[in-house]
Amino acid sequence: MPEKKLNGTVIVTYRCNARCTMCNRYKAPSLPEEEISVETIKKLPRMYFTNITGGEPFIRKDLKEIVRELYKKSDRIVISTNGFFTDRIIDLCKEFPQIGIRISIEGLEKTNNEIRGLPDGFNRGYTTLKTLREMGMKDVGFGMTVQDKNAPDLVPLYDLSDKLGMEFATASLHNSFYFVEAKNVIHDRPMVAENFETLINKLLKSSSPKKWFRAYFNHGLINYIYGQKRLLPCDMSFDTFFIDPYGDVMPCNGTKDKEVMGNLNTQTWDELWNSPEAEDVRSKVHHCDRQCWMIGSVSPAMHKYIWVPAWWVLRHKLKALFTQKPYSMYELKCCRDYRDGKLTKEMCDACSTCDLNAVANNGLSNTSNEKLLKRTGEV
Ligand code: SF4
Repeated sequence: MPEKKLNGTVIVTYRCNARCTMCNRYKAPSLPEEEISVETIKKLPRMYFTNITGGEPFIRKDLKEIVRELYKKSDRIVISTNGFFTDRIIDLCKEFPQIGIRISIEGLEKTNNEIRGLPDGFNRGYTTLKTLREMGMKDVGFGMTVQDKNAPDLVPLYDLSDKLGMEFATASLHNSFYFVEAKNVIHDRPMVAENFETLINKLLKSSSPKKWFRAYFNHGLINYIYGQKRLLPCDMSFDTFFIDPYGDVMPCNGTKDKEVMGNLNTQTWDELWNSPEAEDVRSKVHHCDRQCWMIGSVSPAMHKYIWVPAWWVLRHKLKALFTQKPYSMYELKCCRDYRDGKLTKEMCDACSTCDLNAVANNGLSNTSNEKLLKRTGEV
């Protein structure tokens, strides 16, 4: 039987130079000497897709060596970055022009710089993207985490990416150990949903099948921000995994506390993947009620249950033949109920993962946590 390839995300560091308002990871960095080594990376299984993320992955000076190893075992690699270290990104892309780069940009210049807290962050990210495009890189694009503050910038930013022929990936606010955050929540849900609705209609009217499926993903984001059940099951940890800077293998980055299937520094892949601890985590995933809608857990589900998004796309493309606005957010019962007063803001808040009294667990090692006591969270 041919070896089954997996979908993996490698969190190479918890250090980050940005200061995003929706993520406290920069206050809880890993120690460089504890971060996942190339030797551990060599033990990873074959993957059909690998996402490299952080923290800020380009903080690691040995990222090239990591990518070199990952390329031996992965069909496709995408790096998520804040785009600040332009020279390092360009240098890496010269060696790996087939790689994907997603730069997080949270809106137009003013909004982005306020949310991400990086000096001149918008211009640096934008310049990096343009330079990569000029170098002939095909798989480059924006990544935006939509929230109250930047929702009005969603469509203008999409238009900008479209003009440059770039990918445009979206997300919304989540709470988890990974973000060291429990208080993220959307306040003005109808306003945010309306901006998604406009984007979805633009995506549906394009001639790109990839964008039609992105429209479905954004439809799922509206459903998510109202605190509703996921549109597709979550099968993380079955053929998908995350590995953190300590070599701990986890189902995803959406859990409240870190869930560990095993450790790749001390175990072989087969040992940990088939361990009783991994089975325990899989059973927790089956009963997980967090209802995340992040591309890392939704993309594998969209491939696995392809007929669900495919049927949705087909119906809306047919509608697009007869109307300028093939999609309405009121197709979702939660949006209708909210409009009709049957669902209130308080009810949606209660369904969300936002917990104003929770203390977020940061998932750091004891050594990193001890060091934190003496630091201010700077890299
Ligand atoms: S819904 Fe899926 S991705 Fe989200 S925390 Fe649960 S298992 Fe992880």
